[in-house]
Amino acid sequence: MISRFFSYYRPHKKLFILDFSFAILVGLLELGFPLAVQWFIDDLLPGGEWNWIIIISIGLLILYILAMMMQYVVNYWGHKLGINIETDMREELFTHIHKQSFRFFDNHKTGHLMSRVTNDLFDIGEVAHHGPEDFFIAIMTLLGAFGIMFSIDPQLALVTVVAVPFLVIMITYANKNMNKAWQKMYTNIGEVNARVEDSVSGARVVQSFTNETFEIKRFQKDNNFYRGSKIEAYRVMSKSLAGIYITTRLMTLLVLVYGAYLTYQGQLSYGQLVGFILYMNLLIKPIEKITALLEMYPKGMAGFKRFTQLLDEAPDIENRPDAVDVTTLKGDIAFHDVSFGYSDYRQVLTDIDLDIKSGTTVALVGTSGAGKTTICSLIPRFYDVTNGAITIDGMDIRDMTKESLRRQIGIVQQDVFLFAGTLRENIAYGKLDATDEEIMHAVEKAHLNSLVEELQYGLDTQIGERGLKLSGGQKQRIAIARMFLKNPPILILDEATSALDTETEAIIQDSLNELAADRTTLIIAHRLATVKNADRILVVNADGIVEDGTHDELSAKGGVFAGLLRRQQL
Ligand code: ADP
Ligand code: MG
Repeated sequence: MISRFFSYYRPHKKLFILDFSFAILVGLLELGFPLAVQWFIDDLLPGGEWNWIIIISIGLLILYILAMMMQYVVNYWGHKLGINIETDMREELFTHIHKQSFRFFDNHKTGHLMSRVTNDLFDIGEVAHHGPEDFFIAIMTLLGAFGIMFSIDPQLALVTVVAVPFLVIMITYANKNMNKAWQKMYTNIGEVNARVEDSVSGARVVQSFTNETFEIKRFQKDNNFYRGSKIEAYRVMSKSLAGIYITTRLMTLLVLVYGAYLTYQGQLSYGQLVGFILYMNLLIKPIEKITALLEMYPKGMAGFKRFTQLLDEAPDIENRPDAVDVTTLKGDIAFHDVSFGYSDYRQVLTDIDLDIKSGTTVALVGTSGAGKTTICSLIPRFYDVTNGAITIDGMDIRDMTKESLRRQIGIVQQDVFLFAGTLRENIAYGKLDATDEEIMHAVEKAHLNSLVEELQYGLDTQIGERGLKLSGGQKQRIAIARMFLKNPPILILDEATSALDTETEAIIQDSLNELAADRTTLIIAHRLATVKNADRILVVNADGIVEDGTHDELSAKGGVFAGLLRRQQL
């Protein structure tokens, strides 16, 4: 874990070495000051050597200013280093999340993921800012100060050394408890974030059911859990800080009393006693630093552990090493004995065989939950088949790179996801480098002109989070415009118009027909009228594909399709 953490320093080696060297210099200077004071009191003052006193004072002044400047640099560079590392990690995590397959997003709550990318990385950053060099300097100062203290008076030094095991035990114990407490706190803040995300995205549903009180109560519960665990974490921390405080102060007191006795006995000079006490004080700072690190370290490491856990989740859909980039596909799609389940417990598709000729339009109809969307999700490899194979133009899709495969497939769903941004940006999502002309062409094809004219800033109007300022039909047209830009040889329309009223559907249908022309198109539809003109209709239910034929064939057959048709006509 630690070595993995340090691997993030590698790209910033230079900065780290500079920072570290300066930090060592600052530590050495700190160690030298009490010696100078001791010399001052014992040798210079009694002799009244004013020349030396002035020289030493000026020397000290220069050293203090130097130390100050170096402190500044160490602080600045240390933080800069930490910020760089934090940024690298955040980017790595974001990149990793986008390499994941659909299954990953099925299994992770958005709020939890956001918590990782923001909170956890913030705390890891805190450790990275102050961690290694502070720790090293603290240890160096501790050892250095002890060494000098022993050389001044071993007996007196021994008194302070006796207290050290107590400190170490206390710190280790505190470390363990705090680690546990922070871990728990992290899980709880993740829950809070997930709850906020869920409740805020569903705010409209909440209000329509007037379930605000219910939501608030649920939130309060999570929020209170979080409060409890955070308070507990700080209680543990305060307890150990208090323990460390009293131990160090008792040490000082002991040294003062015993040192006074030794001085009285003539075994110790005044300067040595003062020097000793100054070193005692030097000890306290690094010990406190270490305890402060103790607060940050478990927090940061808890975050780092969660961070690495997420990074270690290998995407379950990856390119084979010999996968090839496909360019323009013709679009002959075939399923060979395909079986699939989202989990091992339940099979959704069993032994599906299907042959779709390029350029044709095939409709999938049937009961909801039968697996129509699932069939379509397998083609762009959002999920991989459990058994069997899917080929396009005769080639197994697992032998293609998933990026090149997905570039050949366009999907329009019932829910159109729009990103925060302008209408133009959302349309251009279908082709990021689209020219203005191409965008205008797509706008025309998708019959979006009237919307563009109505909006205050035309294409440059912000359309609000997830396009909430638009109607379902308008959103659907944006999705269609994206497809005209993307221009894929294979098109999947998954209940694209199901949420629209029949009138709006009829208007959009023209655009869709134009879009579907010359492409292999799969249409999933609820309203059978929508698929009347399909070249072929497949009826899917729990038993798989049960009927296959044209609209006329199937309605004449008097089977499942004819039954569905009759019910819808009523
Ligand atoms: P349809 O599109 O025909 O209505 P789906 O393909 O969406 O049906 O769903 C088929 C079955 O798979 C359903 O029982 C559904 O509950 C299940 N299912 C769909 N998506 C997932 C998923 N992401 N994880 C687990 N099960 C799923
Ligand atoms: Mg569906």
